[in-house]
Amino acid sequence: MIRAGTLFDGKSLAPRHNQLIVIRGNRIDSVSDAGGANLPAEVSVLDLSRATVLPGLIDSHTHIFLQGEDPAQGGYDVNILKYPLAFRAARATVSARRALEQGFTTLRDVETEGAGYGDIGIKEAIAGGYIPGPRLFVVTRAISTTGGYPLEDYAPELDMPKGAQIVDGPVEARKAAREQLDHGADWIKVYMTHRSWLGQEGELVSQPTLTLEELKAIVDETHGWRKKVACHAYNGVGLQRALDGGCDSIEHGLELSDAQISQMVRQGTWYCPTLSVYYTDWAPPNTPDGRRDRKRAAVHEDSFKKALAAKVKIVFGTDMGGIPWSEPIAQEFVRMVAFGMPAADAIISATSRPAEMLDARGQLGVIAPGAYADLIAVSGDPLRDIKVLEDVRFVMKEGTVFQPWKD
Ligand SMILES: [Zn+2]
Repeated sequence: MIRAGTLFDGKSLAPRHNQLIVIRGNRIDSVSDAGGANLPAEVSVLDLSRATVLPGLIDSHTHIFLQGEDPAQGGYDVNILKYPLAFRAARATVSARRALEQGFTTLRDVETEGAGYGDIGIKEAIAGGYIPGPRLFVVTRAISTTGGYPLEDYAPELDMPKGAQIVDGPVEARKAAREQLDHGADWIKVYMTHRSWLGQEGELVSQPTLTLEELKAIVDETHGWRKKVACHAYNGVGLQRALDGGCDSIEHGLELSDAQISQMVRQGTWYCPTLSVYYTDWAPPNTPDGRRDRKRAAVHEDSFKKALAAKVKIVFGTDMGGIPWSEPIAQEFVRMVAFGMPAADAIISATSRPAEMLDARGQLGVIAPGAYADLIAVSGDPLRDIKVLEDVRFVMKEGTVFQPWKD
């Protein structure tokens, strides 16, 4: 049993005070007013009466197999070219632990970047209790096209490995989805755009990858398995194909036109912006890459604000792994609130809303009877200062305390 000073249940915008949360096994049994409740003497009580209790958080866009690779140390490529898979798996284990420590009890981890089906292994190790970590929803290898993924810029005579599964044509596309689903992918991740640069008018241009036909084959196959498709898409033609092809979530979505926002609302498409990562590692100003990096952040801010105003279903995502796991995951909340999202809405974007996207409504992202007992606590009021979510002081996953309250 937990005594909560302040409780955000993950669904309602308003907090409740002085609540009792009864936990039985790995689930929440009841939530009630603490005032006047007679506690049986044998019940153990965790006293969080001076804290704010929230559901375990959900990050809908992470890469536990990436470590914020430093170009000076070989960048992205050395992972694939030099590191044994066991080394990468060991580091992914640390990433998973880091997420749990910070109160993220569920991740949608969207691609292993050349580590094959390694995410399935980590997920099973966590579920089996061998290592600590969040509950994982995984996509395995992800799918792109020829010319649509690193490793690249090597001599054309070399047949280089790629960070994603490469397909050309609807037959290969469907086959890749089948393989990944067969091996346990919870979602399918597709790259609809790849390179980006500035056009002659200074506009952001992104290279489209899969055709509409190819994407439709993947979506049709995946929906047949009652699973969903996440589409990495920056803007333009590739993002339009993602929407026309029936993708379930747009990842990044740096630049959304008004028509595309309307289409997302109409189709119920989830939007997983990743604001913070586009503020890291800018190339120097007044270089082509530097101008592109600044443009990406600027259009992303505008699109986020427009999507928010249009009530697109926004879920919290960070691209951790693109950001080193040593940095706070919750920095994204600070950015979302700075761009106009009410703090309570930002919390919902990391609790009950992604739970619905993950087909786990009532199970995850909520403190209510029947839900998994995934609970965190912070000191202070996140509505007044969202930054307190960067300092999670208590973590429970499925009824087991991972981190006891620390003052
Ligand atoms: Zn990503």
